[in-house]
Amino acid sequence: MLGGGQLGRFFVSAAHEMGYKVWVLDPDPHSPAGLIADRHLVAAYGDYAALDELGGNCAAITTEFENVPADTLDYLSKFILVHPAAGAVAICQNRIAEKTFLADNGLPHGPFAVIRGEDDIRSADAGLFPAVLKVARFGYDGKGQARVADRDEAAAAFQHFKGEACVLEKMLRLDCEVSVVLARDEAGAVRCFAAGENRHRNGILDITIAPAQAPASLRDEARQVAERIAGKLGYVGTLGVEFFVCGGGLFVNEMAPRPHNSGHHTIDACDASQYEQQVRALCGLPLATPRQHSAAVMVNLLGELWYADGKGHGAYREPDWAALHAVPGLRLHLYGKHHARPGRKMGHFVVTGEDADQVLQRALRARAAIG
Ligand code: ADP
Ligand code: MG
Repeated sequence: MLGGGQLGRFFVSAAHEMGYKVWVLDPDPHSPAGLIADRHLVAAYGDYAALDELGGNCAAITTEFENVPADTLDYLSKFILVHPAAGAVAICQNRIAEKTFLADNGLPHGPFAVIRGEDDIRSADAGLFPAVLKVARFGYDGKGQARVADRDEAAAAFQHFKGEACVLEKMLRLDCEVSVVLARDEAGAVRCFAAGENRHRNGILDITIAPAQAPASLRDEARQVAERIAGKLGYVGTLGVEFFVCGGGLFVNEMAPRPHNSGHHTIDACDASQYEQQVRALCGLPLATPRQHSAAVMVNLLGELWYADGKGHGAYREPDWAALHAVPGLRLHLYGKHHARPGRKMGHFVVTGEDADQVLQRALRARAAIG
């Protein structure tokens, strides 16, 4: 496993349950997946001695982190099975390549322009404003993004990003956001989880409601688009596709070449999780046809909860988990991260049950109770 975050940690758990051993490569000695792996190589993704050691001891390699250099995947694939392939990851990790891929394949996306220099801002279509300027690489959780009202603000933001290549996206008026998580195997078989609805706070995923409350026709369309993307990418493994719903229509926002935060509930609410599917796809096993047996709501727990006021200020302390454990149908998942910082994903909880409305109300009350 390249990458040692929480997504990798859940992969390690799933693989362990299925009888596999897992080595993790991550430069952080406290990485959540590294802590429970059979071996943790504490090294950079471009450390070829570490890659040789990984390649010499493992049977197959995957990733949980879209910013693993494509060169690293390419190098490993010369002597070991690597899924997803470097080419697919390279598209998903660069917003310019991603948008170009969508446009070239006739997949629905919002209006955008590629910004490589100030000239591109001057010549951008006026209809794009107000817009969001996003750095092409290494953005996450709303980082590397600026909302801009006009060309002047876009130019200032571009300078703030030190002239790095960007995409300029029209700011869409969103009805809601949904995502589809799927798995695709080497033979091209695809299994999708039901689309979930995602609500964000400060650019960070806050809650996922699964299945989404959106009409079934829209959920089906999202599934079909996600399947086409996986096919066109020749993707093998677990893939997350985020959508904007705007004016009743669907636009692909971005793809994640890995399990997705909005698929955490598949551990608690489905009979095979997105992580188990990743193991199956990597190991050449038949994919499960996962049935969602319960309505589910997932709530992310960010680092600010570890501070006295619950908003990132005051004394550092462990939140009072008892309030959560008292909620019927609630399961808490903490990632074992070394230190809580505001905005850092530290854990999540999932509430499951038969009645979707009741599950949502319970989840919202539980979140209010903890901070
Ligand atoms: P990341 O998830 O990598 O931080 P996203 O591009 O998914 O970056 O943006 C994060 C969130 O910001 C989106 O889920 C959405 O809520 C909001 N957002 C991003 N781009 C737009 C846009 N063009 N129009 C409206 N909202 C947007
Ligand atoms: Mg996103």
